[in-house]
Amino acid sequence: MKKYDVAIAGGGVIGGSIALELARAGLRVAVFDRQKPGQEASWASAGIISPAPENPGMIATVELAKCSAALYPEFVALVEELSGQSTGYRRKGTLEAIFSQEAKEELSTIIALHHGLGLKAEPLRAEDARELEPALSDELQAAALRPEEASIDNRLLTPAVFEAAQRSDAEIFPASRVKGIWREGMRCRGLLLENEKVQAQWTVIAAGCFSGTLGGISAYAPVKPAKGQMIALRTDDLKIERVLWSEKVYLVPRNDGRILAGATVEYVGFDKRITAGGIAKILAAAIELAPDLQDARIEETWAGLRPDSADHLPILGPTDLEGLLMATGHFRSGILLTPVTARLTREWITEQRVSVDWGRFSPLRFAAAGAAQRAPA
Ligand SMILES: Cc1cc2nc3c(=O)[nH]c(=O)nc-3n(C[C@H](O)[C@H](O)[C@H](O)COP(=O)(O)OP(=O)(O)OC[C@H]3O[C@@H](n4cnc5c(N)ncnc54)[C@H](O)[C@@H]3O)c2cc1C
Repeated sequence: MKKYDVAIAGGGVIGGSIALELARAGLRVAVFDRQKPGQEASWASAGIISPAPENPGMIATVELAKCSAALYPEFVALVEELSGQSTGYRRKGTLEAIFSQEAKEELSTIIALHHGLGLKAEPLRAEDARELEPALSDELQAAALRPEEASIDNRLLTPAVFEAAQRSDAEIFPASRVKGIWREGMRCRGLLLENEKVQAQWTVIAAGCFSGTLGGISAYAPVKPAKGQMIALRTDDLKIERVLWSEKVYLVPRNDGRILAGATVEYVGFDKRITAGGIAKILAAAIELAPDLQDARIEETWAGLRPDSADHLPILGPTDLEGLLMATGHFRSGILLTPVTARLTREWITEQRVSVDWGRFSPLRFAAAGAAQRAPA
């Protein structure tokens, strides 16, 4: 029987980064993925590293997100050094475009919200924004610049993380589907694979939107897939430096000259098909934001499945089964939250304490919510 200090179910960027962090702490770690690691959401992502909340519901993650964004430079340096591979990290800022007639009021609300949350943001007049990013539409009314935000090429990052983890002595097992956890009473003893058991002192579930399909996990990680369709564009005549947002779309420039446009959010089960409606919506919004993109070539379209939870917050930390932890439900922010998820999971496993409060994201909140609903009034 295989025996480890830590067994991780799921080889996306989250599972890989946890393995890297734990292996570097001297633990015997293994990652089991049902296919080649890094082929799901971590491949499909846009890779934006922005702790700014997209809506009021996301304010609960801002502290965690700020901490993760701050860890990014060090995380990237480590991964690149250990793997010998580039990750396409671009710390060039992001720019949120405002088109509404009430742009002035909208801009001051956005800036005040950011400053209240301790996030750096600067108001820009339309002409100043267009000077920074000439691709922006001349319908633009104002913009908010977040100079410290970044992006990363997640299709480079995930393989680099796995290379770094392997070079740090983590063991990676592709084509190894996890059926569920190996439970004895209130203790998790490891993982159940198709034809074998893996014994581990600690077990971490990091199977993205599939986590809830693993036996014994649905109560802790009731995640559902949120499909996102994406498009890669290329044009020789247009240069975009920063990540650009409008309320309908984002544009993410890559070092290789591609401009990614995305993304839809659809609840259609585990379906990854590209649809005419999805692509039409993204293209219309992208051309509205940067009109010259109408001449761009479409290089690729794809879709991926984000791991979403009922309250759209991540699911992190220990459960009521001894030795079992969750690291999933990162929804639209899994790339952003990778370094902090790996760091806190390592801290818990090696020291049984964490440097950032993660109680709000406990896997036990779903069972508690279910019990409260069932209780007589
Ligand atoms: C279109 C799109 C755009 C996005 N944009 C951003 C963005 O700009 N910024 C950002 O921060 N986040 C973004 N995200 C979200 C981010 O990509 C995810 O939150 C993150 O990749 C989740 O990583 P993960 O490792 O948890 O899951 P995944 O990458 O999905 O990995 C899960 C792994 O588990 C494996 N697995 C599943 N079932 C089993 C099993 N039974 N046994 C063994 N292995 C199993 C899978 O094969 C897979 O490799 C985006 C996502 C999408 C889809």
